[in-house]
Amino acid sequence: MSNFSLENLVRSNVANMKPYSSARDEYKADGRKMTFLDANENPFENGVNRYPDPQQGNLKSQLAALKGVSPSKILLGNGSDEVLDLIFRAFCEPRKDNVISLPPTYGMYKVLADLNEIENREVLLTTGFQPQVEAILERVDASTKMIFLCSPNNPTGNSFSEDAVEELLNNFNGLVIVDEAYIDFSNESSWLQKLENFPNLVITQTLSKAYGLAGIRLGICYASEEIISILNKIKPPYNVNELTQQKAAERLRDKEKVEKEIEKILEQREFLKKELQKVNFVEEIFPSEANFLLARVDNADLRYAQLLEKGLVVRNRSNQPLCENTIRFTVGTKEENIRLIKALNEIAA
Ligand SMILES: *Cc1c(COP(=O)(O)O)cnc(C)c1O
Repeated sequence: MSNFSLENLVRSNVANMKPYSSARDEYKADGRKMTFLDANENPFENGVNRYPDPQQGNLKSQLAALKGVSPSKILLGNGSDEVLDLIFRAFCEPRKDNVISLPPTYGMYKVLADLNEIENREVLLTTGFQPQVEAILERVDASTKMIFLCSPNNPTGNSFSEDAVEELLNNFNGLVIVDEAYIDFSNESSWLQKLENFPNLVITQTLSKAYGLAGIRLGICYASEEIISILNKIKPPYNVNELTQQKAAERLRDKEKVEKEIEKILEQREFLKKELQKVNFVEEIFPSEANFLLARVDNADLRYAQLLEKGLVVRNRSNQPLCENTIRFTVGTKEENIRLIKALNEIAA
């Protein structure tokens, strides 16, 4: 990383602003039993009458131990969607800056760019769904703040080549965001192992997929302490609620259970793949390192409608570039997958 400077990346209003200081931010616990009359809470206990820890200390130290990273390099949010939005708002000046994303990919990068009035420059993946590094670097100009990489990628399911990601990290002076929502299903190792090597690397993960907690909304961002402190400055003070913090902590303690579920999902992914290959209107199944399979069919609109008719909801990805006539199947339980295969076979017959 030759010319990376975080000062040049952060928006001036963010650099200059003072964060909101909440009651629980100002009070530093010293271990004594205290009476809390500082935050205008209702004093009658019901488990959640107090504001949650704005820095989510317990949850962060658990994650830190689990992932081998310092808590000061972690930011938590209300889903990774909030984390991604915070990153946009910290670094991208509306109507001036731009970001680069690589379709076909996760739709939120573009939605957040549009919401924040940031130009979203799109550089298609190759037909093998890998980043075109040279073409990406050609689109970079002085106002390009970030490049979004989703690996394993949604909806294609594959991981990006390590060399391609590393080349971008080394040759781009903005932030490289690696969205690892599906990393726990992958054989590739997380970029977290290399966080120390790249000051411009930002990794996002989530408890919504492998950890089975989509309902509680917990997104995670790992980056340098400097980047994390900028995001901390602008996050809503109590952005991760108490119930979420408790439930997440409980689940993280049950690592074995999560691992068993992942194992079952991976087994089912192979079963589903094998069965999909036998369906006569399925033309191609793309390699997947995630908990879904993208398949090309003869007529995605028709097959989607027929599945819906049978009570099965899948995702038609045909409107995405390079994804004509594709359907994305989330791997379900054994029973759900059997139901899907049965329906597909009835449709095919
Ligand atoms: C599902 C998904 C997420 C998860 O977002 P949350 O807000 O944490 O639920 C993030 N990125 C990608 C690519 C996803 O597919």
